[in-house]
Amino acid sequence: MADDRIDRTVLLSQCSAAVFRAATVTLMAVVCPSRACGVTVPVVDGMIGEHLGMSGDCSLGGARVCDDRISVADTANASDAVVPS
Ligand SMILES: [Zn+2]
Repeated sequence: MADDRIDRTVLLSQCSAAVFRAATVTLMAVVCPSRACGVTVPVVDGMIGEHLGMSGDCSLGGARVCDDRISVADTANASDAVVPS
């Protein structure tokens, strides 16, 4: 497959901050986890919006945000966390 639009995924726990609407039901925005970026970007339909980082278009624009809060919260032994995929 010569598809340059790779399906990238960012874990919510990788973002230093996230904005939810209506009691954490809908993810509205995250702080981009890219080291060269770090701006707050809107999340639309679970995907990070296209945005500019410090060096132009951020590569994480269009990446899917995986809400991993549940697996984190349900794991008593965090070091043994298993994320099904
Ligand atoms: Zn970014």
